Amino acid sequence: IVKGSHGAVLRPELMLEDVSVRLGDVDVLSAISLRMQERRVGIVGRNGSGKTTLARIIAGLQAPTRGSARIDGDDMARDRKSALRAVGILFQNPDHQIIFPTVDEEIAFGLMQLGHDRDAAARETSAILSRFGKSGWHGAATHSLSQGQKQLVCLMAVLAMRPRLIVLDEPYSGLDIPTRMQLVRYVDAVEASVVQITHDPDHVRAFDRVIWLDEGSVRMDGPTDEVLAAFEAQMTAWGQDDDLSDLAG
Ligand code: ADP
Repeated sequence: IVKGSHGAVLRPELMLEDVSVRLGDVDVLSAISLRMQERRVGIVGRNGSGKTTLARIIAGLQAPTRGSARIDGDDMARDRKSALRAVGILFQNPDHQIIFPTVDEEIAFGLMQLGHDRDAAARETSAILSRFGKSGWHGAATHSLSQGQKQLVCLMAVLAMRPRLIVLDEPYSGLDIPTRMQLVRYVDAVEASVVQITHDPDHVRAFDRVIWLDEGSVRMDGPTDEVLAAFEAQMTAWGQDDDLSDLAG
């Protein structure tokens, strides 16, 4: 995060221009154009609305079929190195993210991808563990940790890389309430900008802006309370709408 000449924080600018994704014969995302520069942006939508696909595009992990995603002008699909530097992502299931047997290796890996040598990566790893009060986790086996602890390792690994933007894709599902509350407190304290994907309006109620994704398109984008009120009303309608005859038999 860079300070401007007046001391104001200059937030990274994320630009999606006409982003479409077609997989097979399915339009997963259709012509999405958005500019985001807020500290906290929520993207809500029901299952299958395209949220995870959009998260992967914002993090530069997937190239759109058409259009572009840029962070501070750099095209995420064309410039993998600057995407890796600028944006971190936390997935729903930490087991799909963690690949190393120890906490230290897991955190150091991202730093070495950024070009740190082994010693520098080890120093930064110690620094982030100590910042989170987890110096006791040096050498700990990743498989022995709880889901919440694993998710915290993933968060530390992402933060160690000092991204300007962090994408969170349903990071709290599968965690019990106290564990989720702890992780939420850690995320609240993060200085980087956050784009959080979720199906749960409660997770983004305090955010600066909320975008509602529906069937691969932006259905609503505006003040958080207005978007969430409309989304919740539609979810209730959907819940009452379903044809239950299949279940009755
Ligand atoms: P969400 O995260 O909102 O549940 P996704 O981005 O995971 O939505 O998926 C959006 C839609 O795209 C879904 O209908 C899903 O079935 C479809 N989809 C996702 N990945 C693929 C794929 N690799 N091939 C075909 N369809 C896919």
